[in-house]
Amino acid sequence: MNKPLHDILQAVAETPAIRGPARQEVAAYQTLEMVRCLQTSLDPTRLMELFSQEVGHLVPHQGIRYRNDDLELEVKLGTQSRHSCSYKLHIGDEPLGKLSFRRSEKFSERDTEVLERLLCNLLYPLRNALLYQDALQLAQKDPLTGVSNRAALDEMLRRELSHARRQQADCAMLVLDIDHFKAINDRYGHIIGDCALKAIAQKADACKRDGDLLFRYGGEEFIVLMRDTDRDGALLLAERIRSHIAGNPCRCSGAELAMTVSIGVSMLADSDTPESLFARADQALYRAKDNGRNRVCVIDPQA
Ligand code: GH3
Ligand code: MG
Ligand code: MG
Repeated sequence: MNKPLHDILQAVAETPAIRGPARQEVAAYQTLEMVRCLQTSLDPTRLMELFSQEVGHLVPHQGIRYRNDDLELEVKLGTQSRHSCSYKLHIGDEPLGKLSFRRSEKFSERDTEVLERLLCNLLYPLRNALLYQDALQLAQKDPLTGVSNRAALDEMLRRELSHARRQQADCAMLVLDIDHFKAINDRYGHIIGDCALKAIAQKADACKRDGDLLFRYGGEEFIVLMRDTDRDGALLLAERIRSHIAGNPCRCSGAELAMTVSIGVSMLADSDTPESLFARADQALYRAKDNGRNRVCVIDPQA
């Protein structure tokens, strides 16, 4: 709701002469305007911005923080001042996360009463935004291994490359392919093959740093995208993944599967597109296969 309209409604609502049904009507109109405003976005960050603005007319605050652990979502807006007022949000049994308001002065009893009333307006728009967010996340996940999929890779590659360019930072890519994986399927069947794929994804995930991004590119190929990582750092991680997999057989339904992987590495150059960065890592992977598998190869830009 815009500020002038809000101020008019508030002034009317607080006019002592307006009582009974008229006062209820003004309050209902205020609620309707707020809900209408909150229904304009399915992005949880934008929703929290809108809600913070709306609430700010009645309960001034300097910052808000919203967390939803199920969706690994955190929204922090404004400054995180000394006093806070926190709520666990839910509709029935369905948890919707935790929201805190922060400011430098204490929250009064009247403030918390108003906040609790206004929070009711947030619940359904927030649930819609979370459902939408969940669907978006699902669409970017590989159902077998649980890691990000090719669609997510395409989006993240563009984002990471423009981040690297803006910050003049390093960025490296690693393409990993399981060696002779067809033989695992042929010998043990596809169910154990699937289990082996999951195990390799977990091993690669355990080796990478928190900021590195892991994707299943397709079949038995995975990609790791590394922010702020130079040639030495990228080779170190690639070698760590390779040796961890070679040294630790996967256990699937009682079978012990000794597997190895080949890895190709490339570093971002000024002239790179997402495609050319990938093409060099892929070429390096083929070199690793040609050189006997279970190894890491790198192809430098303009090599
Ligand atoms: P190389 O060392 O040259 O990479 O040999 P490879 O056998 O790993 O390569 P190839 O491309 O011949 O075979 C890849 C195999 O991966 C064949 C395919 O059946 C298997 N594969 C791809 N996706 C899946 C999957 O989702 N589940 C299972 N179980 N197997 C898969
Ligand atoms: Mg392959
Ligand atoms: Mg393979």
